[in-house]
Amino acid sequence: MSAASREPLVIDAELLERFGGRGPRYTSYPTADRFDERVDADRYGRALLERADRRGESLGLYVHIPFCRVICYYCACNKIGTKHVEQSTPYLEALRREMTLVTDRTGRGQTVRHLHFGGGTPTFMPDAELGQLFDSMREHFEFADDGEYSIEVDPRTVGPQRIRALRDLGLNRISLGVQDFDPTVQAAVNRIQSYEQTVALIEAARDSGFRSINVDLIYGLPKQNPESFRETLRKTIAAAPDRIALYHYAHLPTLFKPQRRISEADLPSSEAKARMFETAVSMFEAAGYLHLGLDHFAHENDELAIAQREGRLHRNFQGYCSHDSGDLIALGVSAISSVGDVYAQNDKVLDGYYRRIERGELPIVRGIALDEDDFIRRDAIQSLMCDFSLRWDALDARRGIDSRTRLADAQAALAPLVEAGAVRVDESGIDVLPRGRLLVRAVAMAFDRHLAERAAGGVGYSRIA
Ligand code: SF4
Repeated sequence: MSAASREPLVIDAELLERFGGRGPRYTSYPTADRFDERVDADRYGRALLERADRRGESLGLYVHIPFCRVICYYCACNKIGTKHVEQSTPYLEALRREMTLVTDRTGRGQTVRHLHFGGGTPTFMPDAELGQLFDSMREHFEFADDGEYSIEVDPRTVGPQRIRALRDLGLNRISLGVQDFDPTVQAAVNRIQSYEQTVALIEAARDSGFRSINVDLIYGLPKQNPESFRETLRKTIAAAPDRIALYHYAHLPTLFKPQRRISEADLPSSEAKARMFETAVSMFEAAGYLHLGLDHFAHENDELAIAQREGRLHRNFQGYCSHDSGDLIALGVSAISSVGDVYAQNDKVLDGYYRRIERGELPIVRGIALDEDDFIRRDAIQSLMCDFSLRWDALDARRGIDSRTRLADAQAALAPLVEAGAVRVDESGIDVLPRGRLLVRAVAMAFDRHLAERAAGGVGYSRIA
């Protein structure tokens, strides 16, 4: 971490207005909208076969459970709304078969250091089936004793006892979806859950030994206002999670059908949203939370904050993580794997996913193979998103190149941000300055070769700030 990136965040409204257009979130580079059919089951299968020779290298697993009993109107996730709880049973069977298809290629027993359950609602699956899923995972993979094993929990679907059952399965990190504690906002987004419910789960998680408890909030939701949101922030801080993700609601009803239930007249103004974000930053900082990057805050004692201080913060499809998770094998409908030189995405449609699995195929429908230039730019973007800095000598040593010359186009593209005092470029590298930190996605975009090739330029992305 550079000295500039340790300074507190500065919010400069004029700068954000000027450079905060739409852009990718860079959970991957190249971004998923560059995927196409050239990466298919065969291509991904070859990458898995090559993984067999790299058994000792770090491996992560992602498991996607797509079902939700009730749909939140703001939702932009890959999910399936259903009241039919029995839908999880054939899905569990498909996940097991997918694991077998994967490990037929990689070999069984590779050591997993990161596991993440996402959705949808992972806890849609009952404990008994989650237990069976874990049994299958242990038949196919080894799990490191010191690994990070996390799950996203919808507080409406679990009680304190279930939290303890999740811990008994071996999970040790937990993320709770909250968004806002105000009942009026909760009604406007169709997600009703009480403060007491959430606090009881945080306490149960802490008592049963979960570490790094995260709470997700969203600002910019219908019926929110700076005063009510301040109360949500106060309650969140009082519950003392280790991490807080504060997402900006992106209203894109043409892309995300549930958002059509939200009346635009109920959305807060840009000015109100800016006040909510500023209030959140100052309250979090006063309570000992550090801004990690983008929309993530971690208490100064949390492992992510420590990882950032020690320069080992990483970013993957699930956001920030404290170690390089290496290859990621993703299971389930719509899940995206990153193995060797390919990203590969499973079928996004449940029937299609089931059909491919039944035919004994890896359920891949699209992806991208990275070339040398992609790896260099991916390293540069990762470093900027995690450390707010990029050192030429480190990138030179890692990739065996003269990165300053190689990335001349990106430096030229950064000129307006340099001139505006958001970024510094010199002979040692690039630093995102405190007033440019909320624009780190715009900084990353300067490195994105594919973005420059894209005809539509930014349509479909959320706003940067
Ligand atoms: S926000 Fe989460 S719980 Fe709500 S519909 Fe989306 S995936 Fe389901």
